[in-house]
Amino acid sequence: MNIIRDDHVPANSGWGAPIEKGQVLRLTAMTIIDFVCLNLHDLDERFDQARTKVHDGKIWITEGDRLVSKRDNVMMTIIRDDFAGTGFHDLQYGTCSGPRFARAAAEGRLNQYHHGDDIPVPDHGCWENLQDALCARWGVPKEFIPSPINIFQHVEIDTETGAISHSPVRPATPICVDLRAEMDLVVAASACPDLAAPEFGQPIRATIYQP
Ligand SMILES: [Zn+2]
Repeated sequence: MNIIRDDHVPANSGWGAPIEKGQVLRLTAMTIIDFVCLNLHDLDERFDQARTKVHDGKIWITEGDRLVSKRDNVMMTIIRDDFAGTGFHDLQYGTCSGPRFARAAAEGRLNQYHHGDDIPVPDHGCWENLQDALCARWGVPKEFIPSPINIFQHVEIDTETGAISHSPVRPATPICVDLRAEMDLVVAASACPDLAAPEFGQPIRATIYQP
């Protein structure tokens, strides 16, 4: 394995990098990672939650499944998923954000995030972290940041009512997901201020390697 880069991403911060076709991004964490990718050579082509679900034929994706753009092109393939057997990565929710947490606190609903109402409310979240990763360096307007795949975020889905809810299911120790780039990409990840993770958020590790 030839390591291209290996970055520590502090809790509740963003990270972004280019990756070449054929290289692999390894994300290692025990917290939620909001993840998106864009075509390096045409940033208008972006990861799309809906296309991904249609192409893979499921709402939970794992090893062997693909991340797909709105133009129906395969952007990445999951080649390793250590979360399998513990939970599923989420393709329903968007990003958390400062205003989202503030509204939940004002409405007395922070307990939906599994640590009650007496917790420090993050002043920013994955929405702001992905902006830090993408907007200045790559010139991506914040409104163009796609809704992510939320890695290590297991969501309960009631198939009778369609209700979705957060769950506290997380990796017990830092584990990996490996995604192979199927085109040259910009990849971006947020270390979520995850209220179900120890200390309400954990650092993540982002490694790019040439297999
Ligand atoms: Zn988040």
